[in-house]
Parts: sequence; structure tokens; C-alpha cells
Amino acid sequence: MSTHPAAAEAPLLEVEGLRKYFPVRSGIVTRTVGQVHAVDGVSFSIGSGETLGLVGESGCGKSTAGKAVLKLTEPTAGTIRLRGRDITRLSKAQMRPLRREMQLIFQDPFSSLNPRMTAGAIVREPLWIHGIGTAAQRGERVAEAFSRVGLRPEQASLFPHQFSGGQRQRIGIARALVLGPSLIVCDECVSALDVSIQAQVINLLMDLQEEFDLAFLFIAHDLSVVEHISHRVAVMYLGRIVEVTDRRRLFTSPLHPYTEALLSSVPVPDPGGARRKRLILEGDVPSPISPPSGCHFHPRCPRAMERCRVEAPELHEERPGHFVSCHLHTGGVAPAS
Ligand code: SF4
Repeated sequence: MSTHPAAAEAPLLEVEGLRKYFPVRSGIVTRTVGQVHAVDGVSFSIGSGETLGLVGESGCGKSTAGKAVLKLTEPTAGTIRLRGRDITRLSKAQMRPLRREMQLIFQDPFSSLNPRMTAGAIVREPLWIHGIGTAAQRGERVAEAFSRVGLRPEQASLFPHQFSGGQRQRIGIARALVLGPSLIVCDECVSALDVSIQAQVINLLMDLQEEFDLAFLFIAHDLSVVEHISHRVAVMYLGRIVEVTDRRRLFTSPLHPYTEALLSSVPVPDPGGARRKRLILEGDVPSPISPPSGCHFHPRCPRAMERCRVEAPELHEERPGHFVSCHLHTGGVAPAS
């Protein structure tokens, strides 16, 4: 089902029922003995110029979802549409022109930059791969991208180890930006940075979004960062999206017990430093190889009922623009006529 606000224009990206399973192999003849359900039927959408935060504990499948959206890993099932065009089954060659539109910023700016290439060559490489411009024009675009991300054009001759962590992430952003994308998947892109540098990079991303009408799929486990940058937020648990709504509603009136538990550890921004009532989740995150029946969250949910063990709740629109999958919430809004 679409989780895009009904009144908004058609989304830039629509993802429906996305699944990504990885085979578990064993034995001398490497038989497939199971499947890791990394992404298990995920649906969401992102509009032009919008940031969708995708949050959840480590291993919940959010990074795999991001890679599947970019078709850096082939989806097992589901549909991905970019500007209404179904790109799910496009070949690598067919995807190539679309790669200019969809870029990725990695978590670790150091390991994602080739240490033997200068910063300028790293940012220029995508232009060369896509055959864009003459050598002189590429040089101009690289200089422009450098200055747009807060680096000096003369720093293009330096190597990655000669930059600080924050500057290296700026090189990663310039590399993503130089092709003029409309969507960037930011996969934990500030997690490895100090808090003060995180804020600078987040502010830079927000400025770039405004200037270029960029859409971000912002994958993170840090809810404070997600709250700052996102327009809407999707919460993932064990391969499924359990709640999606706008930032304000998610942080002030969450509906799903898992979202409540995640938010309970985030300080409330008031001078007294008050906290929400802390909810401690029992048990470990179950294995995605054999996820629990019914609602995947039921073994840890403090409000689980008998029904939760056998019946998987559907993601439905409980309030206008507020989607949740939980048997506690079965009201739903009437579909638009
Ligand atoms: Fe908890 Fe049941 Fe809701 Fe799942 S469906 S979150 S187990 S109350």
C-alpha cells in the first residue's frame, strides 16, 4: 500500500512490497538450508525535496532496503518505481542512465574513498564513467561541487588521508552531488563523525536539499539525528516497516509499541533534560532466518496478545498520514472517495 500523504504530488520514489532474502547455505554441496529475511515486504514513498528517515536497531534490514532501492542488490520481490517508471527488473545496462538520478553516501567516508586517488579525481570519476562533459567542463563541475560542500577547489589535489573525517564526508557528498541526482540514499552517513561535525554535515545536507530539491532516504539508528533532518520517518523492525508518519507525530504521539520503546531512550529537549518514561524491551532481537510468527515483535512486546502470535498485522492508515502495523490499532481512516 502507498504510504505517501494523499494530498501530496506523485512521489519521486515508490517502493511496494519490497523483499530481499539471502540464502543460508550449508554442507559440502552447499545446499540452501534457509533464508535470511533481511527485508520482508516493505512499502514506502519519497517525494521530491523530501527526507524520509528510516530507523531501527542494527540488523533490522534498513541498509539492505537502501541498497535494494538503488538496485545495488537485486530485490527478491516487490516493485520500485522512480518517477512512476518501474525499475525493479531493469538490467545493469538499463539502470546505468538512471544511476545519475540515484546516488549513495556511505557511512564510513574513509573506506569508501580510494586512498590512491586525489579528492578531485574521486569527485570527477562519476562524470568520466557517465561520459559527461569535456575534461575542462568536468574540472569546472568538480570545482563547483567542492565549493558547494564547503571545500576549497585547490584541495582537489590532496589525498583522502590529508582530510579530517568531516571533510572526507564532504568529499563523499560532492561525489554524490556532481551528477545532479534527485535522490540520495544516506546510509548512516554521519554515524562515524563527532557530534559537532555531525551537525555541520546535517546542516549542509539540508542546505543542499533546499537548493537542489534533493530527496533523501536517510538511514540511521540515531533518533536525534533523524528527528532533526527528516520530514517523515519510517520505523523498521526485523525486515518490516511498523510505523510511518511525519516527524512531529512520530516523536510526540507514536502508535507502535516498538516506536514507543525506541523513543523512550531519547532525551526530551527541555531545559530540565527530562526523559520519556524508559521502556526496556525484554529479550534479544530474533534471528531474521526464522523470524517469529504473527507480529515479528510479539516476543518482546509488553502489550502482546494471543492474536499477535498467529496473525501478522497489516500496515494501515490509522490516522490521516499515520500508518502503523499493530493489532492494538485497527481503526483506520476511510479510503478517499
Ligand atoms: Fe505488540 Fe501485538 Fe502490536 Fe505486535 S501486534 S506490536 S505484539 S500489540
